[in-house]
Amino acid sequence: MSATRQKSARMKIDILTIFPEFFTEVFDFGIIRRAKAKGIVEINAVDLREFTSDKHRTVDDRPFGGGDGMVLKCEPVFAAIENLLGTSDRTGFPKGTRVVLLSPQGRVFKQRVAREFSTEIEHLILICGRYEGIDERVTDALVDEEISIGDYVLSGGEPAALVVVDAITRLLPEALGSETSAENDSFSDGILDFPNYTQPREFRGMEVPEVLLSGNHAEIDKWRRRKALEKTEKNRKDLLTKENG
Ligand code: SAM
Repeated sequence: MSATRQKSARMKIDILTIFPEFFTEVFDFGIIRRAKAKGIVEINAVDLREFTSDKHRTVDDRPFGGGDGMVLKCEPVFAAIENLLGTSDRTGFPKGTRVVLLSPQGRVFKQRVAREFSTEIEHLILICGRYEGIDERVTDALVDEEISIGDYVLSGGEPAALVVVDAITRLLPEALGSETSAENDSFSDGILDFPNYTQPREFRGMEVPEVLLSGNHAEIDKWRRRKALEKTEKNRKDLLTKENG
């Protein structure tokens, strides 16, 4: 992946990781691939081992105070940020830059957070933790915000980075193309999406709802809204009682 920013990319995303190979092909499909090709987004995986200074390219060490496991060291992360932004002093980070640490301890990533990121950020830097986590001095000195993709613990930040990048990219202007829109997606207006059907009209005795074949768009809209509410009530009642999209 290129380390230099394409001039036209509206959002640049750098993912700091000890496993850059994780991202080798994962962004080469569908909407993300097209958004990259159109210069809407540029995504780079930055190998933290490139920013080590010992011959073993060490990125982890034992925790002070004892205990299990290893901790991701702070030096490679500081060096990588300095390389990307010219400084590790947060007050000197360029406007539009946000440094995010993927962490189960962070703000939970929701559709509204994805929308916020897609509109406010020009340069997103995602730091992927591993092992027991990352030296807290990274969080204190470099990180604008910790983001969690849910209340469970992953082995590393890479799958979380993939989720965040995907959800943001499809919201960038023109990423979806004219044939699709995020408008009706689940959470966009606080409820889940309505059910969809395609050919054949009848499959193993299961019929497509008659109203969808009627051509009456007012009735179709009413039916879709009702079905979306029913699905929300059944699967995600919490969305109906608080602003949770
Ligand atoms: N000991 C840490 C704790 O309990 O908070 C968990 C460390 S976890 C095994 C290793 C890394 O995976 C974390 O540093 C973080 O980058 C990533 N990670 C794990 N769960 C995550 C989640 N729910 N959302 C985002 N990142 C997560």
